[in-house]
Formats: sequence, C-alpha cells, structure tokens
Amino acid sequence: MKSRKIYLDNNATTPCDPRVVDTMLPYFYEKSGNAASRNHPFGWEAEEGVDYAREQVANLIGVSEKEIIFTSGATESDNLALKGVFEMYKRKGNHIITLKTEHKAVLDSCDKIEKMGGEVTYLDVERDGRVDLKKLEAAITSSTVLVSIMWANNETGVIQPMKEIGEICEKHGVLFMSDATQAVGKIPVKPKEVGVHLMAFTAHKMYGPKGVGALFVNRKNPRVKVTAQMDGGGHERGMRSGTLNVPGIVGLGKACEIADQEMLKDAARLSKMRDRLESELCKIEETYINGNVDHRMPHVTNISFKHLEGEGLMMTFNQNIAVSSGSACTSASLEPSYVLIALGLGDDLAHSSIRFSLGRFTTDEEIDIAIDMLSKGVNHMRDLSPIWEMYKEGVDLDSVEWSEH
Ligand SMILES: *Cc1c(COP(=O)(O)O)cnc(C)c1O
Repeated sequence: MKSRKIYLDNNATTPCDPRVVDTMLPYFYEKSGNAASRNHPFGWEAEEGVDYAREQVANLIGVSEKEIIFTSGATESDNLALKGVFEMYKRKGNHIITLKTEHKAVLDSCDKIEKMGGEVTYLDVERDGRVDLKKLEAAITSSTVLVSIMWANNETGVIQPMKEIGEICEKHGVLFMSDATQAVGKIPVKPKEVGVHLMAFTAHKMYGPKGVGALFVNRKNPRVKVTAQMDGGGHERGMRSGTLNVPGIVGLGKACEIADQEMLKDAARLSKMRDRLESELCKIEETYINGNVDHRMPHVTNISFKHLEGEGLMMTFNQNIAVSSGSACTSASLEPSYVLIALGLGDDLAHSSIRFSLGRFTTDEEIDIAIDMLSKGVNHMRDLSPIWEMYKEGVDLDSVEWSEH
C-alpha cells in the first residue's frame, strides 16, 4: 500500500489554495503588463489587479489601502519596518525593544541595527512564552522609538497581549511594530484596534504564493514613515522600489479575501482537531505542552516527549508525517530551539519537542494516522532507550553525571 504523506508543518509554509492559483494565472500571460506602465492598457490591467489586491489585503486587517506596502515577504517587511524606523527616527532616539522569542528576521535586523549604532533590549518571556507587561514598561527609556513584538509565535503559537502592549506604547509615545506573519489570515488581526503602527505578514503562510508579503504602515495619528531600504524607481510611494510582483500580489489579495470569509470556520475546525491530537498524545507518559494554552493559535501545538530526541522520533515516521522538531540544524550539531530555551526549557526538553501545525487542508483521517504513528514511534524509541529504562527504574536522571566524549 502506498502511504500518503501527511503535512502538519503549516507554520513553515502552507500549500497555495487552488482558488488563489486560478486567480493568479492570467497575470502571467494575458495580463502580463508592468503595473508601473502608465501609458498603455497592459500596464493599466496589471495596475488594476494590484489595486484590487491592495483593497483585499487592507480589508482583511481593517486598514486603508494607502497603508499597505507590498514586499517580497515577511523577512523583507520586518527589515523595512525595523531598519526603516531606526533610520527615520534617529534624531528622536536610537533604542528598540523586542523579545528573545522573535523570528530571526526581527532578531537579525536588530543585530544589524546595533552595529549601526542602535541600542536594542531583548526582553525575556515568561515560562508560558508571553511578555511580562511590567518588564516591558520598565524597559522603555526616553530614547526608545520602537517596540517590536510578534503577534503569534511560529514555534509555539503563543499569542501576545497585543492590546495591553499597545496601551503601554501609546502611553509612552513609542511606535509599536508587530511581526504578525503567523496570525494574519488565521485569526482576526486588526492592527488599528490594538495600537499597532507597523505590521509585517506574508502570503505563503496563509495559502498564498511564496515570495510576496506586505507591510502595513499607519498613515494618520500618528503618521508613520520609514526610510526605504530598497532604492530605485520609487514604487510603493517611495518606500519600496522594484517592479511589482503582479501575479504574487494578486495571489496575496485573493488569499486575504478567502481568509476573510473562511478563517473563523477554519479555526473552529482546526482547533477541534488540534485538541484531539494533543489530548491523545498527552496520554503518553512524560509529555509536556510548551507555551500558554489559553492564548494560542488554534491550529498549533508544541509538545515535548521527555527522554527522547524529536529528530529521532521524526525518523520513525519514515518521512510520512511532516512536522518540525525543536532542534535546528547548524553546521555540525543540533542546536536546541532558542524559542523553547527562552521559555525556560532545558536542552533535553527542547530537543524532545515536536511542533504540529495543522492547516486548511488537514483532515480528521490524517489526525488519526498521526496519533497512531506518533504513539507507536514514541513507544518504540523509548523501548530502545537506556535513558528511558533508567527513568523507569527510578534513577534521578538530573543527578547523573554523564561523561563527556
Ligand atoms: C515565516 C516567518 C517569517 C518569514 O517570512 P518570509 O515571507 O518567508 O520571509 C517571518 N516571521 C515569522 C513569525 C514567520 O513565521
């Protein structure tokens, strides 16, 4: 029997919805003009497609279409927001506050900003992955210009207290930027309702194509400006030069329209499936859910299976189930996830974690198969493990002195 591959890694990327693909197709050939060509119908048609997409995107997040800048994805949007604000507001201050659990696109941009003379505070999170509001407020100084806090975490699905953070930023007159890549299109995300002034997101995490994203930049009260990081023809009101990716943008627009209509229904269905997966897997001994379970994305769970390696567990699926482990492959070794470490997990629990992220095309049958394969895989791995045997014999593993090789 040929087994079907099961995709539970939707936080890494989602498949493109066929309805999105259909909407994009004409823009590769029949309507293949440059949206910046103002003097012939080919350009007008492309421009119309982009204008319509801009409305679809703006509608989903409740902003004006004039506040949307199209980019190549969330990485570029994060770079533009952080570096763009840093350069634009230099005279006002040079201090940025962010979290240790942010995506690398934010952390590495901050790193670069420090090299350019900026000051960055990387706040710890609490054991549940959320920021402590008092610590955030205490970190704000007279030179703080920006607070950058992600809406939902990619590894744990944990959602930050956005409204409360927005109030603190408002009170101290600092800008609030959010990487909302994991939240937009999955749960209602309205930046203006929570005082977010800049917001990054991407199409390929919400059933759109890869290589296209957007940055929301607030235009009124306050009027926010960013210094362009890409110079050239002055596209996107001078904030992001480069010929627009018309098919991609049209696809992002359609993905936003579908999300607007279907995300609540999807979220309700997926959270039921996620809860079933989670409660079945948690029947296995020594399993732990990572991150706050009350403030969490509906389709995500991150579980540690103590005393085994997530990477090893994944091998028992024989590549039939796609998930992510809490270990990142660096040049020579497996590094435990910095996000889970920031939650206070030890290296062992971080290495033993698996992230399951469901999506629009996940079925109940796939969840059944995943539960079965996971349960068998964990038992199999533990049966082979001397550490598990020691644990069952009652050895206090924390007190064992392991010899170094
Ligand atoms: C995927 C992701 C990104 C990067 O998005 P790209 O469009 O692939 O550049 C940034 N931030 C978060 C939280 C993500 O999950």
